[in-house]
Amino acid sequence: AKLAKTNGFAVHGNDTNPLVNRWNGRPYSKRYLEILEKRKTLPVWHQKEEFLQALKANQTLILVGETGSGKTTQIPQFVLEAVELEIPDKRRKFMVACTQPRRVAAMSVSRRVAEEMDVNIGEEVGYSIRFEDCSSSRTVLKYLTDGMLLREAMADPLLERYKVIILDEAHERTLATDVLFGLLKEVLKNRPDLKLVVMSATLEAEKFQGYFYGAPLMKVPGRLHPVEIFYTEEPERDYLEAAIRTIMQIHMCEPPGDILVFLTGEEEIEDACKKISKQVANAGDVYGPVKVVPLYSTLPPAMQQKIFDPAPPPVMVGGSPGRKIVVSTNVAETSLTIDGIVYVIDPGFSKQKVYNPRIRVESLLVSPISKASAHQRSGRAGRTQPGKCFRLYTEKSFNNDLQPQTYPEILRSNLANTVLTLKKLGIDDLVHFDFMDPPAPETLMRALEVLNYLGALDDDGNLTKLGEIMSEFPLDPQMAKMLVVSPEFNCSNEILSISAMLSIPNCFLRPREAQKAADEAKANFAHIDGDHLTLLNVYHAYKENNEDASWCYENFINPRAMKAADNVREQLVRIMVRYNLKLCSTDFNSCDYYIDIRKAMLAGYFMQVAHLERTGHYLTVKDKQVVHLHPSNCLNHKPEWVIYNEFVLTSRNFIRTVTDVHGEWILDIAPRYFNLENFPQCEAKRVLEKLYKKREREGEESKN
Ligand code: ADP
Ligand code: MG
Repeated sequence: AKLAKTNGFAVHGNDTNPLVNRWNGRPYSKRYLEILEKRKTLPVWHQKEEFLQALKANQTLILVGETGSGKTTQIPQFVLEAVELEIPDKRRKFMVACTQPRRVAAMSVSRRVAEEMDVNIGEEVGYSIRFEDCSSSRTVLKYLTDGMLLREAMADPLLERYKVIILDEAHERTLATDVLFGLLKEVLKNRPDLKLVVMSATLEAEKFQGYFYGAPLMKVPGRLHPVEIFYTEEPERDYLEAAIRTIMQIHMCEPPGDILVFLTGEEEIEDACKKISKQVANAGDVYGPVKVVPLYSTLPPAMQQKIFDPAPPPVMVGGSPGRKIVVSTNVAETSLTIDGIVYVIDPGFSKQKVYNPRIRVESLLVSPISKASAHQRSGRAGRTQPGKCFRLYTEKSFNNDLQPQTYPEILRSNLANTVLTLKKLGIDDLVHFDFMDPPAPETLMRALEVLNYLGALDDDGNLTKLGEIMSEFPLDPQMAKMLVVSPEFNCSNEILSISAMLSIPNCFLRPREAQKAADEAKANFAHIDGDHLTLLNVYHAYKENNEDASWCYENFINPRAMKAADNVREQLVRIMVRYNLKLCSTDFNSCDYYIDIRKAMLAGYFMQVAHLERTGHYLTVKDKQVVHLHPSNCLNHKPEWVIYNEFVLTSRNFIRTVTDVHGEWILDIAPRYFNLENFPQCEAKRVLEKLYKKREREGEESKN
């Protein structure tokens, strides 16, 4: 009966039988009861009643608790009970939303909660991330990325399907979460029945309180064990090498306990995993078995789940115990909690977005983390017992070089997409929008300017018909524009495939031990006019070979990436069809086939053009940044003009995924942007001037 009460069995006539799942009427599994016991030991359970009362009494609530205290997995379930009890008409559809900044977290946590509630994922508990909706009409609790909730608001401005919205990981201050803050503040005024819970792992919460009109703050004390912190004596030149060295030292010298290492991205992590496995194997059997597990956002769900597997058992009875080594991106900093971690290795870096509005370049850059991040990372070591954190930097560097907090993403991002979303949401006065941290005026200006050039906003800053359709695509404005206009170039089928290929992680496999073979395989797909067309070739070949995975491996193509591309394409097709955008192709045998595609791409990406200077290097048009073609390019020549998909900031500036375009096309397709009146002096300008003159002459000749 106690169980029945705490779980609020009140529906479907099951209030008399506590062993029947209220959600689907099935008897609870043994596993459910096991997990329930574990859940009850989480810190948030001690404050369940307090939380429910606070929720009842307030429209907005702020909850702060250490990572691992049960916020993400338990609070939404508490809310579910409370909300339902308040709804008189049981047939009325309601939902609880819980946002996550990261897709991996949304997927992983929803699966866990489905298990805790003893239901199938996608039914009562679901998740929604860009290009993947795993929810149904039965769904009552939905984990979704903050970006997805923002998209939902575009179609449902008052978010009427939700009774309670939980903004989780608020301390991460992602762009979408920041926009949701301002948006929800408005929505709450118009919907007195809606409730908002803001959850955060750090005590920046007072700032949240001030922002949300003094909403009550509830603190969940953590139960952290002490963590001993070690710094290096000297700065490390190569943090990857230092991390692996440290892992080996721990493995050989320290008592049992799992290791968590923070690295910056997929490639680095996969590389590290291989090296670690190799070194462990070389060290011999005396040290006990090791299981190395990677964790990053593009890892398929089944692989993500492996971080929760227990460490391997000793090889033989009485042998050394096994160790699990998790090599992860920032996602393990606060979004996911892995029990059993005793050692943390923190090289002090993460991939962060940077934006320079002056040259309009947004890039992901491996950058030093903040003190707050370093603190969170070390905390991961003390979850289940006292732990150790090895910081691969000096104490002096920690004190002097690290910033106290990471800057909110809104201050480091290109806002074109955000501004388009806000316009679509009917927010016209961006300057007075209630941002928790207002973005730089220059960044907003830049965004408005870009959208105006793309034709999404008119000269008064109002959303145009074109802009309206563009905003329906979950893509960057440039790509959305390219798609929307592609029927005019008679190549929307191909532009769809290219957009899909650009929206997935790199499809080319290049294993260290077979780089030459991989490069040769890639060369078979190469299109001399550009990487976009090469991607199109890959997509076509994949379809012609019946999406066969072994064909993929033979050709060093990642089948998972291709499957994802196909899925993305399908969803983009649906949006095209919904807005009556024609699906069409130029005849493949026509000499215009590739030309039409290149022109359509230019119609979206004309603000990402670089010109080959006489000195032999490329200069981005208007912004005049020296750039180099990324070594991965497939061109067999250096075109005079290229469009590029991405600006990569490293020791050198690279442009990646480039395609040859013609100067004449530029005049036709983007005359306003390439209007020479407001064009900085440069070689590109002189070349364009000549083209304009030539065109005038030709015009006059044809008149005569
Ligand atoms: P918080 O949001 O406060 O950081 P969570 O609700 O994410 O805490 O985690 C609570 C507990 O649930 C942690 O001990 C964590 O290890 C456990 N947990 C979460 N997801 C899984 C999973 N997929 N498998 C096993 N345990 C999990
Ligand atoms: Mg959490």
